Amino acid sequence: MTDIAAAKAALSHLDLAEKESDVRASSRDFFWYSPVLKDRLDHVTADFVVRPKSEAEVIEVLRVCHAHDVPVTTRGAGTGNYGQAMPLAGGCVMHLRHMTKVKEVHPGRVICEPGVLLKDLDAACREAAGHELRMVSSTWSTATIGGFVAGGSGGVGSVTWGALRDLGNIIRLRVVTMEAEPRILEFRGEELARVSHAYGTNGIITEVEMPLAPAYDWVEMFVACDDFMEAAVLAQDLAAEDGILKKLISVFEAPVPHAYFQRVRPHVAEGTHMLGLMVAPQSMDGFLTFLARRPGARLIYRSDDHDWPRSPGPVFEYGWNHTTLRALKVDPSITYLQVRYGTEGALEKMAAIRDRFAPEVLQHLEVMKEGGRTMFAGLSLVKFTTEARLDEIMAAHEEIGAMIFNPHRYTLEEGGRQTVDDRQLAFKREADPKGLLNPGKMIAWDDPHWGYDRMYAYPKLQGAG
Ligand SMILES: Cc1cc2nc3c(=O)[nH]c(=O)nc-3n(C[C@H](O)[C@H](O)[C@H](O)COP(=O)(O)OP(=O)(O)OC[C@H]3O[C@@H](n4cnc5c(N)ncnc54)[C@H](O)[C@@H]3O)c2cc1C
Repeated sequence: MTDIAAAKAALSHLDLAEKESDVRASSRDFFWYSPVLKDRLDHVTADFVVRPKSEAEVIEVLRVCHAHDVPVTTRGAGTGNYGQAMPLAGGCVMHLRHMTKVKEVHPGRVICEPGVLLKDLDAACREAAGHELRMVSSTWSTATIGGFVAGGSGGVGSVTWGALRDLGNIIRLRVVTMEAEPRILEFRGEELARVSHAYGTNGIITEVEMPLAPAYDWVEMFVACDDFMEAAVLAQDLAAEDGILKKLISVFEAPVPHAYFQRVRPHVAEGTHMLGLMVAPQSMDGFLTFLARRPGARLIYRSDDHDWPRSPGPVFEYGWNHTTLRALKVDPSITYLQVRYGTEGALEKMAAIRDRFAPEVLQHLEVMKEGGRTMFAGLSLVKFTTEARLDEIMAAHEEIGAMIFNPHRYTLEEGGRQTVDDRQLAFKREADPKGLLNPGKMIAWDDPHWGYDRMYAYPKLQGAG
């Protein structure tokens, strides 16, 4: 029987937040990017928030909440987009913002606590070893490494290093279980997939070991093109230039730069398509030679040499889901898709989508490596009208061969490819036998025979029937 009062009493010696406004603020992430999730999750709030300062305190929180059947939802910085850090059934939010120790930095790897902000981790690694994280979410300045590992998928740096869960991009994870007596487990290799991108549904990460790459003063650039497909081809060709070291290749279909990028607007026309790039300083000669071979492309901004009256800020904060954020600030009816164009026929798929949906759908591409090959992912902007129309657009993408990873869902399976990750389900059975960790996010735990014929509705969602 869930006993919130008893759990709170037993944890009252820890850093507990009980003020309604604090609890509510710590119960929300960036789910509101999706009108579908906003409609279903806007009322969700925890009963209380606890902020452990150490692994020992994490263990205490899990032991006490297990004893009193209180659900526990972990929070890094709450910048996730699918309600991952939102406590659907209330209970306890465990906010790891105090766990910020960087324990060891070695050339090529770092060991730290999960609550370290990505930017602080990079600063520590640069100082200690002249290295930085291989890849980060574009929420580099606000997100935590633990939240990235448990809820993210890739980002700035993926053009060189691939996706976060690709082998070698996470070295080791220390994980605490939710049992009567919580255990501490160390995961490497195949075991990592049990908890990486599992939304904290089956174990709490208390220590992270990540690989690093040499740190550079990356040159951040905007390149303008008058033709969208030319911009996409330029992105594909640049990705294939192995001698030019890159950290970001984003492509924005017009009028996205003019309409939504305030500080870029004075420098582009409505019809201007644009790339956002990060290139290593030692690769700039090669890059400028590459660009000179493309008369249709114009370098309009470079961070190390520009005359813009107002600096645009970090170019990576125009890419990934920052593009959607910038669009939402101008037009609240905008929402987005997550698209995988793949490694084959990506340009044809882009052209087909454009013919069929522009300007209702405006494409925003991100180049990643996948299996050593160039892969286009996308976070397209959509002018939202109805849920039915949004589903129609997503179904049409699938028909065209562009896979959708549906961001308008709060479960692991629906956000993926409508299948459970058996490794994660099996570990949940072992590590969280009462199913108290982030409930409602793994359909297979609650309803193994779910048919995926409609959006799943977690039966114990607060306020549900
Ligand atoms: C503007 C914008 C841009 C974004 N760009 C990107 C991007 O480029 N790439 C990308 O992948 N994502 C992106 N995101 C999503 C999100 O910002 C990232 O995934 C980020 O790294 C999440 O970190 P966080 O600390 O905010 O995690 P949270 O949102 O707090 O948590 C994410 C998930 O991880 C779980 N969790 C957190 N800490 C732990 C832990 N220690 N142990 C177990 N589970 C834990 C939470 O329960 C939750 O399920 C973006 C979001 C926004 C709003």
